[in-house]
Amino acid sequence: MKKRILVVGGVAGGASCAARARRLSEDAEIIIFERGPFVSFANCGLPYYVGNVITKEEDLLVASPERFRDYFNIDVRTDHNVRLIDRENKQIEVENLVTGETAREQYDALVISPGAVPLKPALDGIELPGIFTLKTIPDTRKIKKWIDSRVAKKAVVVGGGFIGLEMAENLKIKGLRVSVIEMQRHVMPALDEEMAAPIHTHLQSQGISLYTNSRAAGFKRRGKASIDVLLESGTAVLADIVILAIGVRPEVALAKQAGLAIGELGGILVDDRMRTSDPSIWAVGDAVEVVDCVTGSNCLVPLAGPANRQGRMAANAIMGRNDIPGFRGVQATAVCGVLGLTIASTGVSEKTLRQVRIDRQPLRYEKIYAHPSQHAQYYPGAKNMTIKLLFAPDDGQIFGAQAVGLDGVEKRIDVIAMALQKKGTVFDLEEAELCYAPQYGAAKDPVNMVGMIAANVVRQDYAVAHWTAVEKSGACILDVRTPKEFERGHVDGAVNIPLENLRQRLSELPADKQIWTYCVVGQRSYYATRLLKQAGFSVKNISGGYMMHLCFKKIQQQVCSKSNPFKI
Ligand code: FAD
Repeated sequence: MKKRILVVGGVAGGASCAARARRLSEDAEIIIFERGPFVSFANCGLPYYVGNVITKEEDLLVASPERFRDYFNIDVRTDHNVRLIDRENKQIEVENLVTGETAREQYDALVISPGAVPLKPALDGIELPGIFTLKTIPDTRKIKKWIDSRVAKKAVVVGGGFIGLEMAENLKIKGLRVSVIEMQRHVMPALDEEMAAPIHTHLQSQGISLYTNSRAAGFKRRGKASIDVLLESGTAVLADIVILAIGVRPEVALAKQAGLAIGELGGILVDDRMRTSDPSIWAVGDAVEVVDCVTGSNCLVPLAGPANRQGRMAANAIMGRNDIPGFRGVQATAVCGVLGLTIASTGVSEKTLRQVRIDRQPLRYEKIYAHPSQHAQYYPGAKNMTIKLLFAPDDGQIFGAQAVGLDGVEKRIDVIAMALQKKGTVFDLEEAELCYAPQYGAAKDPVNMVGMIAANVVRQDYAVAHWTAVEKSGACILDVRTPKEFERGHVDGAVNIPLENLRQRLSELPADKQIWTYCVVGQRSYYATRLLKQAGFSVKNISGGYMMHLCFKKIQQQVCSKSNPFKI
């Protein structure tokens, strides 16, 4: 008899699983049940459809039920809600949402890929018309209709994560004035706060009003169709439309009803073959907890790449392809574009590393910053990006990287992501042989650059210091930029000796104190550090230079200041 594989949820994880299962076996019967009206649509494209960057709705449809039938002999049943799983009898109960009929379907293998649900906290007024979440194509229709029919002018996006920022971009493109409200100190929570400072600056320069450290406490109707978004601080931000993008939680109703094991983070527990606590049921995508390949802890990573790979993994397991290694875990490699700025990261952030304990001891990590340009400086259009690399100080193992810039950012993070997945070190980045021609990169690519800087630290060729430690350091802070640069702005109490004069002016430096050097980005101060070390001084280079100082300062000021400096 043919193996009967039923798949619940027909988008990223479910559709990938079903198609892979068919490629592995022509003998199985495969049916996808999808609650919504579409299968295999591009969730990731939805914000761009709202902004009319993607103009045709059909372009969001990656594959139709007909294509699944014709290409793969897969039966797709849209508008079918799977209501329960009867594990004892290996059956599911399905409701046809068009006819209202229910039916039971037998399975040999069941795959659930039900995704995640946008968070909608029980705040006053949250159900007011004009407040939307974004998850499906019908959601985009409602949002577009609301904006167009009311000629909406002002939008508030609650949540500054990647969906929030993508929506901010697209609402701006659509001609609305946009405010972003974020309860944390900074947008893009996957990043460390200093790395978010350039994003804040960019949003501000693009006319987006940003309320960080601001929690939405409720919503109130104003006039006929407008809404006041009420912040905990007492401020009210007026909107004609509100988009809630405050995160998602795993959709586990079905898994709970079936008594499948659920983890502490609220996701379905699976093994590295995506098998749940029931040996005949697999689960993939946003609904599952997966292992973070850096920390080894469970985590929730609601991203399309992992969902697709997990779907494929579940199909391998169902079809008995045990020769293929299991799922490697996730590293949360992600990218977000907002109004020309690209933000990308892989692995863990510093704030996560601070929480990691090995045998109850904090994990030792080091970090460096760099500001390389995306291609050779001499080629027109060179633009700096900011990269932060986190690594083990003893053996140089890569823990994570974050980058923000106008061009070439995701390429560098992708390279580092691959190194990280292969348990690579900063020495691998130092030695990576990457493409170079002037318009694409540099003979020392940004990836090499961060690898070299970090490798110097691991080899103890120079000691690195950080702005967060300057105040308590008691060190002599040496600014090696030119006097003109120094005049334009410098760190309080810093001594200015330009690099070019340093050899002649060594006697001006205290011999009994540590010297911490900085320049604009960290390069000249690195030269100074080497020079001073060889002259017998105890010296450290403040990583990332004055540019990182400004980033830290920006976030700090914003937190200290009562009125939000980013409000426009
Ligand atoms: P989904 O793709 O959400 O599919 C789950 C499906 O299951 C849904 O269609 C749902 O209707 C169906 N379902 C649930 N319960 C039942 C049931 N009981 N019966 C029948 N059907 C059911 N990720 C990125 O990596 N990059 C991006 O740029 C990106 N952008 C995004 C933008 C938006 C606006 C959104 C919403 C998500 C974005 N994501 C992005 C996340 C990505 O889309 C998800 O991680 C991915 O789709 C998860 O796949 P999944 O199969 O787990 O769930």
